[in-house]
Amino acid sequence: MAIRAPSQDGTVLVAGAGGFIGGHLVARLLAEGRDVRAVDVKPLDAWHQLHPAARNVRSDLALREECLRAAAGVREVYNLAADMGGIGFIENNRAACMLSVLINTHLLLAAREHGAARYFYASSACVYPAYRQDDARVTPLREDMACPAQPEDGYGWEKLFSERMCRHFAEDFGMTLRVARFHNVYGPHGSWDDGREKAPAALCRKVARAVRDGADAVEVWGDGSRTRSFMYVDDCVEGIRRIMDGDVAEPLNLGTAELVTVERLARLVQEVAGVRLRHRYDLTAPQGVHGRNSDNTLIRSALGWEPGIPLAQGLVPTYAWIAEQVAQADPVVRRPAAVKAAAVRRR
Ligand code: NAD
Repeated sequence: MAIRAPSQDGTVLVAGAGGFIGGHLVARLLAEGRDVRAVDVKPLDAWHQLHPAARNVRSDLALREECLRAAAGVREVYNLAADMGGIGFIENNRAACMLSVLINTHLLLAAREHGAARYFYASSACVYPAYRQDDARVTPLREDMACPAQPEDGYGWEKLFSERMCRHFAEDFGMTLRVARFHNVYGPHGSWDDGREKAPAALCRKVARAVRDGADAVEVWGDGSRTRSFMYVDDCVEGIRRIMDGDVAEPLNLGTAELVTVERLARLVQEVAGVRLRHRYDLTAPQGVHGRNSDNTLIRSALGWEPGIPLAQGLVPTYAWIAEQVAQADPVVRRPAAVKAAAVRRR
């Protein structure tokens, strides 16, 4: 299906462009021929991807004046800026996660003031209530299940509140707002070893290090039985563009419906790496809800599309990129380890 394009002209602002998904979105918009203003609070040399064809700006979008500057003259705003990370980060940085409310609030105000035609907000499956996710055998989450609210305590509350703010900016000020609830996104060019990485990147890193060191075991957070779905970043970017250009004003799930256990995820990474390792389960590590999957009925009917890249396929470029980072960051120095790795690979 061709993407409808209500607005092919005019500058596009990508907030959070130095991040994982933001970097991929900038690449996509540039490939579409768009004029992109890419903004992030991190110094440019810390961005996951820096695209020279975009106008790359370092700016703190938690501040209203900075948002007003960033949104001046832009036709569309994509807000992917947030202080966030995997479960290990969000459970230990709740206040920081909630402070992202400043970014969306000030960006919405700036977009309104400058008359932006469309505004996209990146929400999360963490808005869904814990009481619907206490079993690994899940009922996939439909968009209308977010309330009565009991979201993830901190990050999830901020997302739910910001979603609602988008809704009321649309109702009260006539703005065109689009909201997607991302379900676990993975792929190359994201956090893999800075404390913000999520399960797929963390497992790729651990397996790559085990291969390098000739280890026969890998650590897995929890007992492996928790379930999730994981969306490859290309599907995420495709979905963002379709949702932005579509006509659905309500939040839409953006995730795959391919439910896997963490155990299965760890095994798939090893299959890609060509090894089979023992699992050392860390039952004290943060694990999040028991089970979560995306109900894609609404996005299918509204857009005639849903994310479809299989996990086994998306892990191939993801593992390759992370294994390369591991090799560059800490090259092999011990010969016996390399011999042991080969032995593991033959099992
Ligand atoms: P990321 O951490 O890689 O990117 C977020 C970027 O926002 C970072 O580069 C960060 O520096 C920037 N940022 C933070 N505070 C800022 C500020 N004050 N001003 C300007 N920039 C600021 O995360 P991501 O995985 O690319 O996620 C993008 C969006 O998607 C976020 O809103 C996130 O909550 C949402 N999301 C992601 C996932 C996922 O699995 N990756 C899942 C659900 C929702």
